[in-house]
Amino acid sequence: MRLTILGSGTNLHPARAAAGYLIETDHTFLLDFGPRTLMNLLKTSVDRHSIGHLFFSHHHADHVADFIPFFFDAVITAKMSPMSSPRQGITIFGPTGTRRMFGSILRTFPAFTPTPFPVGIRNLGETSVTIGKTTIMTKYMTHTPKLRCLGYRVEHGGRTFAYSGDAQYSSNLVELCRNTNVAVLDCSFPVQKPGTNHMNAHDCGRVAKEAGVKTLILSHFYPVCEEYDVKGQCAKVFGGKIIVARDRLSLRI
Ligand SMILES: [Zn+2]
Ligand SMILES: [Zn+2]
Repeated sequence: MRLTILGSGTNLHPARAAAGYLIETDHTFLLDFGPRTLMNLLKTSVDRHSIGHLFFSHHHADHVADFIPFFFDAVITAKMSPMSSPRQGITIFGPTGTRRMFGSILRTFPAFTPTPFPVGIRNLGETSVTIGKTTIMTKYMTHTPKLRCLGYRVEHGGRTFAYSGDAQYSSNLVELCRNTNVAVLDCSFPVQKPGTNHMNAHDCGRVAKEAGVKTLILSHFYPVCEEYDVKGQCAKVFGGKIIVARDRLSLRI
């Protein structure tokens, strides 16, 4: 399994793309697709047309926006491609409301329908999805009131990866991350400037410690994080390996 961070920031971070993560197992798929992550995807060696499964943690714009140019390109490219090499379909997964929101996008943007390849949209609860030899499990996360949010746990070849999406501390998040090789957590804020609806560096350390995570990756930074030692703050709580995410960081899990 390989993880490539396409975005380690938030909507308006001046130096980081917003949320997006590329996972390569026996399939290639994305977890979230926020603004500016498509540009980072283009800088990888991965063929964007090989991506057939998109998983969204929730519907805030900093996790969704680059789906629109990605999908437009997929449609245009498929229409120009020879019939002998059709693009594989695209399946979109996410929490309650995913069918409504992406169905609306597909109906509204010019040229998005009819699509020249199959498109599926699936609302997920707490469940597991198997794609080839990869299993993706979901748990509900606590983020903002009234918004359904999912955390994802990916298992392949005996290796495990967890992604919180946007989340506050919760027992569900600890369970999602239980004994994972690598976990990416929402570290929006430093301890000195905590914000609502997200974790700070201390919270992330607490989750990783309680879950027995091997390697913790701090990500989803608001600009204020750049002024503080979030890794040092986290290390006061969590004794395992800590990585501060950066765009296009790629590692084998
Ligand atoms: Zn959010
Ligand atoms: Zn976010």
